Amino acid sequence: MSQILTEIDEQLDDSVELTALDRCDSCGAQAYVRVTLASGELLFCAHHAAKFREKLEPSALDWHDESGRLNPLPPSGER
Ligand SMILES: [Zn+2]
Repeated sequence: MSQILTEIDEQLDDSVELTALDRCDSCGAQAYVRVTLASGELLFCAHHAAKFREKLEPSALDWHDESGRLNPLPPSGER
């Protein structure tokens, strides 16, 4: 049992990455950028991330950009 729990923990570590279920807050397209603000998180597609970056980035606590990876694959694809 403990082995199974360990595997789940490892998968949760990967949850910091954006998935196809994450959607742009502006247009609903797949999100590739997650902006962490003091008030919460915002998700943007590559298009809207570029549009709002100049405005939001100075106040963002974190700017997680996966737009360079426009072909998301599950972590299990490694090896
Ligand atoms: Zn968008």
